[in-house]
Amino acid sequence: MTTAHIGGYPRIGGNRELKKATEAYWKGDIDREALETVGRELRLANWAAQRDAGLDLVSVGDFAFYDQVLDLSVTLGAVPARFTAEREVARGEVDLDTAFRMARGRAPSGEPAAACEMTKYFDTNYHYLVPELHAGQTFQLASSRLFDQVAEAHAAGHAVKVTLLGPLTWLWLGKAREEGLDRLSLLDSLLPVYGELLTSLAEQGVEWVQLDEPALVQELPQDWRQAYEAAYNVLQSAPVKVLLASYFGGLGENLSLAVGLPVDGLHIDLSRAPEQLEAVLDRLPAYKVLSVGAIDGRNVWRADLALLRERLASARMRLGKRLWVAPSCSLLHVPVDLAAETELDGELKSWLAFARQKLDEVVTLARLLDGRASDVDRERRDAATLALQARRDSTRLHRSEVANRVAAVSDADTRRRSPYATRAIAQRRALDLPLFPTTTIGSFPQTDEIRAARRAFKAGELSSEAYEGRMREEIAFAVARQEALGLDMPVHGEPERNDMVEYFGEQLDGYLFTRNGWVQSYGSRCVKPPVIVGDVSRPGAMTVRWSEFAQALTDKPMKGMLTGPVTMLQWAFVRDDQPRDITCRQIALALRDEVCDLEAAGIRAIQIDEPALREGLPLRQAEWQGYLAWAVECFQLSAAGVRDETQIHTHMCYSEFNDIIAAIAALDADVITIETSRSNMELLDAFQDFAYPNEIGPGVYDIHSPNIPEVDWMVALMEKAAERVPLERLWVNPDCGLKTRQWAEVEPALANMIEAAARLRRQH
Ligand code: GLN
Ligand code: ZN
Repeated sequence: MTTAHIGGYPRIGGNRELKKATEAYWKGDIDREALETVGRELRLANWAAQRDAGLDLVSVGDFAFYDQVLDLSVTLGAVPARFTAEREVARGEVDLDTAFRMARGRAPSGEPAAACEMTKYFDTNYHYLVPELHAGQTFQLASSRLFDQVAEAHAAGHAVKVTLLGPLTWLWLGKAREEGLDRLSLLDSLLPVYGELLTSLAEQGVEWVQLDEPALVQELPQDWRQAYEAAYNVLQSAPVKVLLASYFGGLGENLSLAVGLPVDGLHIDLSRAPEQLEAVLDRLPAYKVLSVGAIDGRNVWRADLALLRERLASARMRLGKRLWVAPSCSLLHVPVDLAAETELDGELKSWLAFARQKLDEVVTLARLLDGRASDVDRERRDAATLALQARRDSTRLHRSEVANRVAAVSDADTRRRSPYATRAIAQRRALDLPLFPTTTIGSFPQTDEIRAARRAFKAGELSSEAYEGRMREEIAFAVARQEALGLDMPVHGEPERNDMVEYFGEQLDGYLFTRNGWVQSYGSRCVKPPVIVGDVSRPGAMTVRWSEFAQALTDKPMKGMLTGPVTMLQWAFVRDDQPRDITCRQIALALRDEVCDLEAAGIRAIQIDEPALREGLPLRQAEWQGYLAWAVECFQLSAAGVRDETQIHTHMCYSEFNDIIAAIAALDADVITIETSRSNMELLDAFQDFAYPNEIGPGVYDIHSPNIPEVDWMVALMEKAAERVPLERLWVNPDCGLKTRQWAEVEPALANMIEAAARLRRQH
């Protein structure tokens, strides 16, 4: 019989119970025991759901109050000294609050300390806490949390498979605290602790442990490849069976390596890399289990069970019961349960599957492969076939005019009429800006009043006229403040936007919004990505009335504000029935119309935000060029419809430009504003080295901090910038939007920033 299993289930709960409980605990509203109770209930409910769906093994190791990578680091004793006394680690008693302090810097008990760094897990929007590595680091089992959870699952009568990050990917994700430390040098001291961990699990009666090594889908340096062999040779003596899991892509040149490692089974991602199945089957040693990740763990679409059965039939023949089926990766990355989408129309709903539904898909697929499908399984298979057929033929999805327009795009559509040098002259004339022009990134504080008004509007308590009137008041307020401060290029402040993607998605055709489709982003923070279900088009102008209204309040050039096509794509669940770049081009064309409408309405500068451009980079560097080519083209397509004198801005807020500076330059935005204040302008080196030709606004203060930046400090930063970029191409601005700040912080901060710009003008 084919084994049905998963590599992890969402732990947030159907109603974000985990978020509510952890936040209540941090605030002191509930105690530790109440929090632990919520955790236990969530685990028990999730295991029960897995067993009831018919999985052969339930997943343990995927629960964490904050982050499973953090919990593993704690279990391994990788707790930086600033968080705990060594004896706590030595006794194996690192407690929950210590983990919370590592994550957030503070917890209900213990001394506050600087939190660990957090970053995105591979190409997902899930953030993990980066293991801190240092020379001579020692490891030891420092928490019994995992073992307690195994015992809990056993007590509830479940057959358990434990899933953990493998030692090499854990090191790969870690960051050396000292310059020059080779992370691999820690492997020898790390492996014995993994060995102990596996032995303890075996003693508890665990038969299978899944060790996740998704780093195997990336290009690995030779010494890392060798380390895989060495590490798994050592771990092979542990008395458990190891399933080595790869996901988020194909194994590529690491395929032979992965297939040959001395473990009991291999998991591969067939959702992103279906083509690797044959090669793996040909090389898989006869003693090994092959787990096929056939159900997409990264997206929300219903699986074509009949098709998958067909595709896997020969694998089933060749492997017999050595074939396992699973989602491609942990279901952490998809929403919990489609059943909660009570407001979604039946047809759209029939095209989707969330985590709970994906359990059924895995089980049914296994039974279909075994030829032991029940009536329920057959119904499920046929319902999927019908729904997917309907989706393919749906007139709600396919609009020939949208497809035709994308097909008709020419090179000329992606190019501004004149090169930057010519545009710059036209813009200088049209905009009449001083040296070191000042601006902001778009949003002003989203106050409680603004949020309350939006809630009332959505609940039907505030009429649409009244709501629009309220937003106009907010805009007028923001414009008046900016006039008083003396900003050279004001913005309307974005009060009408709940979220920079949702606001546009809601006004575009082809998007779908869920009521409860939450996915964990980090810790207690969840996001609800929209779903791009069909061809995207723009039924009408989205921002023009706001920008027009704002422009009428000032003589200064009002900057229009849009979210770029790549970011719209990146922060959504994207349809899987056409290449991503096609979907992105559709969005780009919709935005192009908005850009042209803004121009026609008298808006002389338009910012197209692309904060997600960099995170869209594929996991394999070999694929970067292909991605960047279409990503850049989509941005250009959205921007290039305007006259020379209309100034296109873009904004990006991350701290790594070296890899992508050529692509950034190819966007050909007239002005780019970026985050730099925390890097002391060193980030501009990449721009200088590349001889970046257009204008740059290096953020002069960190908007994440409530501190009011000082004039001298900002002047000094800009002087540094002026060493790297010609003066006449520099702007002065904060490093991101101000929506999370208070007006009481924003006003003095901007006043200082404007004073800094004035001083710079006097000095140059
Ligand atoms: N214009 C947006 C804002 O100011 C940009 C947000 C972002 O960079 N993520 O809020
Ligand atoms: Zn930003």
